[in-house]
Amino acid sequence: SKLSPFLHAGPVATDDNLSIIHLKRDLQTPTILRSYDKDDEGYSEGKVVNTRFGSFPHKTLIGLPWGSQVRASRVDTGSRGRRQEKKKKRKSDEAGLDASKEEAGDTPKEEKETVTASSGFIHLLPPTPENWTSSLPHRTQVVYTPDYSYILHRIRARPGTNIIEAGAGSGSFTHASARAVYSGLPSTEGGELSVSASKRRKLGKVWSFEFHEQRHEKLVKEIQDHGLEGVVQITHRDVCEDGFLVNEESPKADAIFLDLPAPWLALPHLSRSGPPAKEEKEDAESNGMDSSKGKPFVSPLNPTVPVHLCTFSPCIEQVQRTVSVMRHLGWTDISMVEVAQKRIEVRRERVGIDNGQQRGIQATPANVDEALARLKEVEGNFQTFHGQEPTGETTKPKKVKREQNPNNRETIMESLVERKVYKEGRLVHKTEPDVKTHTSYLVFAILPVQWTAEDEEKVRAKWAIKV
Ligand code: SAM
Repeated sequence: SKLSPFLHAGPVATDDNLSIIHLKRDLQTPTILRSYDKDDEGYSEGKVVNTRFGSFPHKTLIGLPWGSQVRASRVDTGSRGRRQEKKKKRKSDEAGLDASKEEAGDTPKEEKETVTASSGFIHLLPPTPENWTSSLPHRTQVVYTPDYSYILHRIRARPGTNIIEAGAGSGSFTHASARAVYSGLPSTEGGELSVSASKRRKLGKVWSFEFHEQRHEKLVKEIQDHGLEGVVQITHRDVCEDGFLVNEESPKADAIFLDLPAPWLALPHLSRSGPPAKEEKEDAESNGMDSSKGKPFVSPLNPTVPVHLCTFSPCIEQVQRTVSVMRHLGWTDISMVEVAQKRIEVRRERVGIDNGQQRGIQATPANVDEALARLKEVEGNFQTFHGQEPTGETTKPKKVKREQNPNNRETIMESLVERKVYKEGRLVHKTEPDVKTHTSYLVFAILPVQWTAEDEEKVRAKWAIKV
């Protein structure tokens, strides 16, 4: 199978693989690069990324090293417009019409737009879960990088881990967890070493569940396009109703992430020995839990390790209900965390003219008016400075070293000409006002390995412990 660019990006952008077109900070477009356009009927230019910074034919991007800065193409990229024109012409030819007369002077709209917009540049980046999260097509609310990096660390996701994830939604967490658990290797032929399904589990896998049909379909397609089928298995399922087995097989999960509106309804399925016993059942149902379906219970959990779980809920009421059911079902080490991300922007700030309080700080004027206003003010300062003392006695101008007096005319002129004082601006940092403060509450818990009377007996026999 092909190598996923998320797992083995290689040194250059390759045909038929996802790349991220980075336009500017916080603006990126994911694109599968194709040297040919399937719908193009042999038109030579193939696909084109049209952006507000210009047009970028895929052919000019394929083969470039990741991180390249690429200038907008100056070639005529109105391919689609012309293609449509060609198609129309062919159709009308077939119908016996003379299309050329009909369309004379009618330049396709897209051609006009793309030809005039060839001025900017982009950076070509390999896909990562982080830039995929900030550029993916949203079908639901998604889990963002600050949350998922913390979650994956707390649930101990690492190469070889089997993770259950529900619901998959837009696949943001899916991609991050796929990278975290992946432990495969590329073969010398350039593809991935093929492994059987059962061995795959040992190499780490994401067992993903989604009950919304269209979202499920879209994610299946995305996972295929991104070469992640070997690592992510998506099942169309209501997990609160039908649990987490896949074709009657247990994922043997070491870790679980639930991003569901009612995670407490899914918890009884995530047990080691089935839903609560009869006398506890009423209690459980009053907490909103599902009752068992009468089939012999197969646990979806790895029986040999403590299982780490995280639930992701926006409201504290959901948290309370989840925690109550967790306690009931024997989960331990229950704790709640809220990740409050702050992005700190560090830059040099332009500051106004020195008014005597901010010694030594000068900024480059923003425009000619500001420069003139500053000069005028400086001329005024200059005269006062060299004028009369309040006593009326004429004094010699005080000797002030140039570098000590930022209002010195020469210093100002120098700064205006050389524009270097800007670099000495005051270093400030600010948190961005638009940062979202609350995403969700993260509830963590651990389900210990089951310890039966038999296990106790075995250990006692082994160590000859007498009670
Ligand atoms: N974690 C996802 C991401 O990072 O893109 C977003 C998950 S979205 C908030 C919640 C998803 O859970 C929705 O797509 C919804 O259809 C799905 N869902 C809700 N209840 C479900 C259930 N009982 N079984 C399976 N999926 C469910």
